[in-house]
Amino acid sequence: MQRIRGALVVMVVAAWALARVVAVHARPMPAAVAAATPLPTPTAVPRPGGKEARPWPVQGRFTIAAQVTPEAEATPLPAWLPPAYPLPWAPTPHDHFFFGRVFPPSFEDIPIADYRFAARDPESGRVHGGIDIPAPLGTPVLAVGAGRVVWAGEGFTYGREREGDPYGLAVVIRHQLGWQGKPLYTLYAHMEAVWVQPGQWVAQGTPLGLVGSTGRSEGPHVHLEVRMQQADEVVQYAPLLNPELWIAPPIGWGVLVGQVYDTHGRLWDFGRVIIEPLDWTPEVQALWQGRHVIWTHTYGRSGGILADPYYQENFALNNLPAGRYRLVIEMDGHMYKRTVMVYPGRVTFFIFTPEDGFTVVQ
Ligand SMILES: [Zn+2]
Repeated sequence: MQRIRGALVVMVVAAWALARVVAVHARPMPAAVAAATPLPTPTAVPRPGGKEARPWPVQGRFTIAAQVTPEAEATPLPAWLPPAYPLPWAPTPHDHFFFGRVFPPSFEDIPIADYRFAARDPESGRVHGGIDIPAPLGTPVLAVGAGRVVWAGEGFTYGREREGDPYGLAVVIRHQLGWQGKPLYTLYAHMEAVWVQPGQWVAQGTPLGLVGSTGRSEGPHVHLEVRMQQADEVVQYAPLLNPELWIAPPIGWGVLVGQVYDTHGRLWDFGRVIIEPLDWTPEVQALWQGRHVIWTHTYGRSGGILADPYYQENFALNNLPAGRYRLVIEMDGHMYKRTVMVYPGRVTFFIFTPEDGFTVVQ
């Protein structure tokens, strides 16, 4: 009896160990990351309590165009973000989701909703050249695509090593893949540490360094930019594209893109767009920083901001689980509403005018 019980215990332990191994290996993870960087266990970090789990960022706090994020501590939430679609992801000939995620799979990497690409600073009037993706200090920052490092360190704004640069410690990659014959670059700013050097070749998923809050930043996050060189201008002058149209969505999730016009028939400058997810589960809301409604915006007009060559959009939102969404725009005292579908791995495109309301273009 004693021996049988002992054997049973061994079998149970063996089964448990096997289940653990299967569970660990079932989670897709780039091999380079798994080998090079021990990942903190999300459950080891306390979740923010009700009092601290305020919606952020706090609007109106931003004082500079390039890179600002709120003071709140970014803490991993107990939710799982599916891996991205295989790269390059191109559901139509016009789409170019060439890039992967910026953090390892155990960290959600959803940008701050209400201070996205081309957000206009209410005080300075300048616009935000990238997206801000919050993460705990020390989270590994990954190359979103293969290419050569062309900048690593402090001083990117002027192209020479210099302390006090608004981007802080930054890395810039010139990518292997371009678009329509033009080179593409990605920039990662405010890092705590940089592990690569100019001239170095990196694969997609190569750790570039660690999330920090260096430069003009109010909390740990990555400020991510996508630039497309038009001629032979230096990368500092290359115009900016919305990274949300270049990073592959998580599997089963999609993208919403639009042209939103104002009453003068012009693309609406930094106007508010409200999106109500109608089918979300609580887990997804956790990934979206606890939001039940997404308050976001159209692009602010600026010379350095480039719309997509095909969509000519002034609004784009990635990382939306497939399902129904209610779009709400308030303009000139009228409230316009329309329910749209977001499909897995695809772009839903709409045009809004005050005369016709929302038109979904399939
Ligand atoms: Zn930023």
